[in-house]
Parts: sequence; C-alpha cells; structure tokens
Amino acid sequence: MRTGHRKWVITMKETRMNCPSGHGKMLIKRSEKKIKFRGVDLRILVEQYLCPVCGVEAGTIDQTASTQKSISDAYRRAVSLLTGKEIVEARKKLNLNQQALARRMNVGIASIKRWEGSQIQSKSMDHALRLALAGQTSGDICMGNRTFSIPRIKLVLKEFELVLGKNILKKNDKMLFAAKYLWYADMVGHRELGESMTGSTYAALPFGPQLNNYKDLITDIMKADESSAKPLSSEEKKIITRIAMKFVREQLVYDAAHRESVWKRQPNGAIIPYSDSSELTQV
Ligand SMILES: [Zn+2]
Repeated sequence: MRTGHRKWVITMKETRMNCPSGHGKMLIKRSEKKIKFRGVDLRILVEQYLCPVCGVEAGTIDQTASTQKSISDAYRRAVSLLTGKEIVEARKKLNLNQQALARRMNVGIASIKRWEGSQIQSKSMDHALRLALAGQTSGDICMGNRTFSIPRIKLVLKEFELVLGKNILKKNDKMLFAAKYLWYADMVGHRELGESMTGSTYAALPFGPQLNNYKDLITDIMKADESSAKPLSSEEKKIITRIAMKFVREQLVYDAAHRESVWKRQPNGAIIPYSDSSELTQV
C-alpha cells in the first residue's frame, strides 16, 4: 500500500491521547492520503493523533475502523459497487431492517452487516443487492416465486441421486455438477409449474450456472435435514426424472448448461433471472 501526504489539517482541540514518549497531549491530524488498494488509486481522508514534539502518529481503534471503511467505500465507488452507505440508505428507503433484506436475498444477516460496514461484496452479490433493493419483484426474478429452502435443495439432490443411482453431492464438493442438476430442476420447474423447486438464486460463472453464494451454503446443504422440507409433488418428481434421464452422466449436464444462451449472454457474476426459463433449449 503506497501512501503519500496531500494536505493536513491540525485541530488544536483537547484530546484524550497522550504521546507514548511522555510529551503530553497529542493533536488530531486529518489528512487526505493517496493509496493504492487492489490495484486502484484512491484518495481517502485519514484521522490520526500526532505528537507535535516528536511527530509520532497513532490511531485509536475507532479511527482505524473508520479509515478501513473509507478505503472500502472509496474502492467500491471507484469500481461501481454499492458503498456501505448506499446500501444502508437504499434499505432504509424501502423500510427494511437488515434481517428483512437478508431474507429477501437468501443471505445471512451477518453478510448484510458486513457489507454495510467495510467488507467489499463480490460482483455477483452486488448484483443481487441491487435487485433486492430495486423493489418487491426482485425475489421473484432471483428465486422463482418460491421461498429459499436449503432442506429442499438437499431433497431435490437426493431425488436426483435416487434416479441416477449414484451420489452427486460428494465430500468436499464444489457443486460443479450438483448445481447444474439443481439449476435445471429450478428453471424447468419455473417454466412448467410457475415456480422454482428450491428458491435458489443462480449466478453466471465461468464454469456455468452456479448456486449464488454456494461457498457459504455448501456446509448447510450437506447438514440439512431433507425431511423438514415440503415434499416434492409428483410433477416435480417427473421433471427431475426427465432431467436425470437426459443427463445420466455428470459431464452431459455440465455441457448442456454451457450451451444455454441464458447463461452465455450474462456477464461474469451476474444473476440468471428465472424470467429466462422459457428460453432453455437443452431440456
Ligand atoms: Zn511525542
């Protein structure tokens, strides 16, 4: 991280911090600094304590946290991601609390708290945030008219395993193949029954459609109790069987997903909306 001083403002107000070398009270120094963060040049305002005698600088925990937030927001502004402040403002405009926004996006409340603070969201999560903050219809587009359910993901995957006669969710699985079966089940369910099967949101990644945020979800999917999910209807079971019979080997479902224009036309990391389900060509 390169830093360089621009201009300084020294305020003479009384402070609580004393110089560690015994020179008495330190001053508050506010300076604009130029830094390079993740390859992007940023200018941020930094507030620190300064000893006017020996020149030593020190920051309190609050000041350090505030600097981190300034870096994060300046970076997010520079690369066109929503800043923490923008997320808070848009959420409050919709009268949502953090829990309600989290529910709308299929993420934990901790993620919302982190993004509203200084953690930088991924491009795909930024897209999901924008959809969720754009209005009530975002849930339908992202989740296919169904409430997200992790036990139901497990239930659908188990049904595939039953038809295929083999495990598709293995230990240390990255869901490279499992997510493709799941995506087809959700999309075809949406196309033919008007709702997805699991309420999952999918992102267009280089290796095909993938369960959005799958790294955060995988452990919960493995641990989930599928008997707590709403049972599959006979129509849903028929769709799963049809998909499984068409793609008896994992490579087939992988290749098919890569032929779908609804995946191909999305930029990397973007959400694949359920409104595209009518354009599937491989099932
Ligand atoms: Zn000093």
